[in-house]
Amino acid sequence: MKKSILVIGGGIAGLAAAVELAANNLSVLLVEQKQHLGGRAFSFVDKKNGDDVDNGQHLMMGCYHSTLRLLNMIGSLPDVSLQPALRVVFRHPEKGKTELHASSLPVPLHLLSGLLGLKSLSLSDRLSLLRVGAALMKAKPESDERLQRMTVSEWLLSLHQSEANRKYLWDILAIGTLNDAPDRVSASLFVNVLQAAFLGSRSDSAMVIPRKGLSRIFGEPAADFLRSHGCDVRLNTSVERVVIRKNKVSEVKLSTGEVVTPDAVISAVPYFDLPKLFDEPTLRKFPEFNIADRFVSSPIVTIHLWFDMEHGAVGGNDFVPEEFVALLHSPIHWIFNKTKISGGRKNGLSYLSLVISGAEKFLAMKKEEIVALAVAELRRFFPESKNAVVRHSHVIKEKRATFSPRVGTEQFRPSHITSLENFFLAGDWTDTKLPATIEGAVHSGFACAEAVLRNSKHQSRFKNPSAR
Ligand SMILES: Cc1cc2nc3c(=O)[nH]c(=O)nc-3n(C[C@H](O)[C@H](O)[C@H](O)COP(=O)(O)OP(=O)(O)OC[C@H]3O[C@@H](n4cnc5c(N)ncnc54)[C@H](O)[C@@H]3O)c2cc1C
Repeated sequence: MKKSILVIGGGIAGLAAAVELAANNLSVLLVEQKQHLGGRAFSFVDKKNGDDVDNGQHLMMGCYHSTLRLLNMIGSLPDVSLQPALRVVFRHPEKGKTELHASSLPVPLHLLSGLLGLKSLSLSDRLSLLRVGAALMKAKPESDERLQRMTVSEWLLSLHQSEANRKYLWDILAIGTLNDAPDRVSASLFVNVLQAAFLGSRSDSAMVIPRKGLSRIFGEPAADFLRSHGCDVRLNTSVERVVIRKNKVSEVKLSTGEVVTPDAVISAVPYFDLPKLFDEPTLRKFPEFNIADRFVSSPIVTIHLWFDMEHGAVGGNDFVPEEFVALLHSPIHWIFNKTKISGGRKNGLSYLSLVISGAEKFLAMKKEEIVALAVAELRRFFPESKNAVVRHSHVIKEKRATFSPRVGTEQFRPSHITSLENFFLAGDWTDTKLPATIEGAVHSGFACAEAVLRNSKHQSRFKNPSAR
């Protein structure tokens, strides 16, 4: 036996599990089939201009408590920044700019006053937002079966939210956090998100902005942490088969031909990869692992554009003045000013990332068509950009960016504890009560690590003798 705990998958969930185990002096082997860590949250260096490019822009929030703990453990907390208070700018092509800005009043009045300040909505619409606030304070999404059967759109209608309220506020928040259309996704999960974000402390509702490429914040420092704790991190290595005997994982076959016999195994692979770990007879015996068809994926398309600054600058400023902005009435949901976020221009070009969530209908479009649409939308919202010349672009279509949290999906999300005594499930799709997010992934990884640690208290041989 070479290592005691095997973590399958080096996405955020697997990294969180491995880091927590390593911090508790357990011996970990982490295997990742790709040549990079981070899974669906990674970055690469653009060969032409040297910028870090994320596979998709990620926003986090102050209520991502587990994520912030992980970042602290691996030393990358300084590479993200927390807004002093929630501030999101919305832009409408005709009505212009409006802001959701939490005030200095006590929680939750800080946010209510922010909502009342949304100038894109009429006064009566703004007042009716308070109904949602009141419903949130009372809601118990885990036990409310009526809420669990509702879509976000149905829930908002039940609270008499006008079309303007839905279009100019709630829908963009729902699509941004749940990554699919509000008339499909679960109201109870949306309520969970809103409660965590808006009913906690002031900092819980503020945005956390990554200042570096995702791999520099998650994958690379996590690998350094693991290796410095004596753990084995293997890239380009996949698990081919998990073998079960007597209700336990007995051995695991790797793509290298090696067979390992860990004391415990944490699977941190996505739902569509879980059944591939087992042979057919095992899947028949343990249908809990054969659940890929219970979930539907939802895509995200990110358009990375580099503009010639001589033409893009107006009076020396970028034509997108904010670090990030939500677009109303547009197929593009968010624009991120990456140049501003990463602390200024390095190569004379201005770098923007444009995000389309729930992007099913854009998957079939050619990349050039998507770039043309993105540039046209930029010009519509920021007419100052009309002379800016696109020098370089990437379109990244993440077809299986997240699972779509449709009504009814919650019941299929499995617990971290399985019927096998030494096999645990992590991943953003497991039962975290959160949508598919970094926070859900980290939370699931920590939950599995804690379960392993509980078991290990009774089995001292789990301990890594060489660990510090
Ligand atoms: C474009 C995009 C934008 C997003 N935006 C946000 C955002 O703004 N905020 C937010 O919080 N979240 C966001 N998310 C969601 C977030 O990235 C995911 O929820 C999170 O990264 C999922 O992590 P995970 O570890 O559960 O899964 P994954 O990242 O999928 O990791 C699973 C890993 O397992 C590996 N694997 C699979 N099978 C095997 C095998 N047999 N052997 C070895 N390895 C294997 C895979 O290669 C992969 O690396 C976004 C996602 C995308 C794609």
